Amino acid sequence: MFDYLIVGAGFAGSVLAERLAQGSKKKVLLCDKRSHIGGNAYDHYDENGILVHKYGPHIFHTNSPEVFEYLSRFTAWRPYEHRVRASVDGQILPIPINLDTINALYGLRLTTFQVEEFFKSLAEPRETIRTSEDVVVSKVGRELYEKFFRNYTRKQWGIDPSELDAAVTARVPTRTNRDDRYFTDTYQAMPVHGYTKMFENMLDHPNIKVLLNCDYREIKHDIPYREMIYTGPVDSYFDYCFGKLPYRSLEFKHETHHVPVFQQAPVVNYPNEHPYTRVTEFKYLTGQEHPKTSIVYEFPKAEGDAYYPVPRKENSDLYAKYKSLADSIPGVHFVGRLATYKYYNMDQIVAQALTVYAKMIRTKRVEATVLGTQTGNGNGHHKIAEGVIRKELTLTQ
Ligand SMILES: Cc1cc2nc3c(=O)[nH]c(=O)nc-3n(C[C@H](O)[C@H](O)[C@H](O)COP(=O)(O)OP(=O)(O)OC[C@H]3O[C@@H](n4cnc5c(N)ncnc54)[C@H](O)[C@@H]3O)c2cc1C
Repeated sequence: MFDYLIVGAGFAGSVLAERLAQGSKKKVLLCDKRSHIGGNAYDHYDENGILVHKYGPHIFHTNSPEVFEYLSRFTAWRPYEHRVRASVDGQILPIPINLDTINALYGLRLTTFQVEEFFKSLAEPRETIRTSEDVVVSKVGRELYEKFFRNYTRKQWGIDPSELDAAVTARVPTRTNRDDRYFTDTYQAMPVHGYTKMFENMLDHPNIKVLLNCDYREIKHDIPYREMIYTGPVDSYFDYCFGKLPYRSLEFKHETHHVPVFQQAPVVNYPNEHPYTRVTEFKYLTGQEHPKTSIVYEFPKAEGDAYYPVPRKENSDLYAKYKSLADSIPGVHFVGRLATYKYYNMDQIVAQALTVYAKMIRTKRVEATVLGTQTGNGNGHHKIAEGVIRKELTLTQ
């Protein structure tokens, strides 16, 4: 008898498998319908021996010391600060927009102070910020919105930014200095041997059995378990009884080129030309040295694997219905980005999983006290998870 059947071997499922096995001595069966562990963060060596991310570039960044410390048990890190460029008006320019972007785009030599004034002169103040268009136009005006954001967002979401929630671009910063880092988090690093190796280390425990190429529906009636942790799509769990939750999908086109370097930045965005949104060159991310280089193009599309929940009011209303159903089912815990229908970064999912684990231990302790029995824990991990609960609200994307 397994204590837990965990559905999905991504960050949510793997962190919980590790915590329950290592932290609480539980017996866990972790299954995934894919042929590999790691979920969307899975990486592997392609046929040329170059480490690539199968499901698009995954850059690790967090402000949470708890999350960083927790993952550091399973990997060493390579310091890495991500940088992105955008192809606009025939130039390859820093994005987020900064002082250098503006000076290069308009052939100016503005200072930080002057560019602040420049942004102010372009901004079109809005009384209420309702849509993604409002967010950007009210900050940097219509021209920069058209050049950098509008078409990218249309490609990415298949909807005009004027119809998308403000939340989608709410975090796009503009800078008046020359800082061209994509993220400003305290911890920015990549696992030295890749994500999959980190997952392997996490799951390397005698109490964890991993079953791949296996949809949980194939085994749920045959394999005995006490509770389930479900990290797949919540609407699928309930057989789409209220209808399908809309997602945006992506097609990845991987290529290898017989040159050591393909492009001048780790990621180049193409807001206006081409059907793809961006091109990533993996060697920048991984630090691998190799005479060839592998890249990936991302083509957004409506159908296919569920990647990005579409952030619109009607969709969160629909999710709320599934959530109340999920909350009413005893013995099944819904965790992760698909089960909670929200775009989360990897660190946020780790934090969410650690928080769920902490709550589960607390509940079991109360049950044990009530029943006058004992449960095992006591190796200090509870403390970390408690810290994460406190930090969870401060995590940034
Ligand atoms: C293109 C892209 C780029 C991203 N880049 C970044 C980034 O740079 N930095 C960052 O922090 N985050 C990034 N993310 C987000 C990151 O991928 C997620 O935060 C993370 O993968 C979520 O982990 P998870 O375990 O919740 O979900 P997943 O990784 O999706 O894992 C869920 C697993 O459940 C399995 N499953 C589903 N249904 C079933 C079933 N019926 N039976 C068995 N198994 C099932 C799936 O096969 C999957 O492996 C990116 C996401 C995308 C789509």
